[in-house]
Amino acid sequence: MIHCARSHKGKVRSNNEDAFYLPEGEDKPLLFIVADGMGGHNAGEIASKMAVEEISSHINSNFWESGCKNVLQLIKEAFLTANTKIYRNSLEREEYSGMGTTATLALFKDGKVYIGHVGDSRAYILRDGSIRQLTKDHSLVWQLLEEGKLTPDEVRCHPMRNVITRALGVHESIDVDLTEHEYRKGDIFLLCSDGLTNMLEDDKIREIVLSAESVDAAADKLIEAANYYGGYDNITVEIILVD
Ligand code: CA
Repeated sequence: MIHCARSHKGKVRSNNEDAFYLPEGEDKPLLFIVADGMGGHNAGEIASKMAVEEISSHINSNFWESGCKNVLQLIKEAFLTANTKIYRNSLEREEYSGMGTTATLALFKDGKVYIGHVGDSRAYILRDGSIRQLTKDHSLVWQLLEEGKLTPDEVRCHPMRNVITRALGVHESIDVDLTEHEYRKGDIFLLCSDGLTNMLEDDKIREIVLSAESVDAAADKLIEAANYYGGYDNITVEIILVD
């Protein structure tokens, strides 16, 4: 796997409330996470960082012991652990009240990629020249899209596009979307926050990634393009190429 990540605060926001995780060292599971926090007084930053830390440490410390048998169950537990930690912190400190975060995760093992997902960050696969979103946004506009009340173009510039219907740490319990997919040589996976996808259409993302000479160049160009089209939000991308 060849992988890289970039995170940029964009051109409007004063801080970066996104967080990400990449595998640290050869002996660690091939785990990738993007989280996009929300909440006042920098609480969004705290929530996204907490999610990334809790989820990665839970998976890293239980992955081998669990015999790697039930990967989806392990991912679910990791999300629940993070949810509890963020939720408790939000109750204990007034400045953290109401904080929450998205979290989108990809874990690669034995020819399969396992996806855990809450919120409106996204996972995509690029294969045979096309791009496909592997996650469903937990957002108001996505619901309206599925009900046929909005078109994809209307979704991207809708005034309510930031309203998310599910986030880690907001309630005591959480529903986690869990899916698994086969992967093969040449596949490219992209995890990203909505600071990318609100600025760029899927087709534009596809074009940029497939025309770049390396995953690093692709990540740089995605950030550059999101900023070129406004950079209204923090932008985080992780790109994983199956080599
Ligand atoms: Ca965002």
